[in-house]
Amino acid sequence: MKSMTCKQMGGPCDVAFQGDKADDVIKAQDQHLKAMVASGDATHESAAKSMQDRWKHPVSGMGWYRNAKKAFAALPEE
Ligand SMILES: [Zn+2]
Repeated sequence: MKSMTCKQMGGPCDVAFQGDKADDVIKAQDQHLKAMVASGDATHESAAKSMQDRWKHPVSGMGWYRNAKKAFAALPEE
């Protein structure tokens, strides 16, 4: 199990997400961004928009995704 923060994935806060795979924390971050924006948190808006753009443009979003996976792989196991 590893944990990655909102900030490590391009977000503005230090909330941490846990998962065994990079995909798990990336999905958690996606949910977190949507939930924060839905609750009226403006600081998460730009990160949420970038995340949405990445899903819409998987090819150009792939660089971010690869970096996130690499960063996750480099994290120590908890
Ligand atoms: Zn956050």
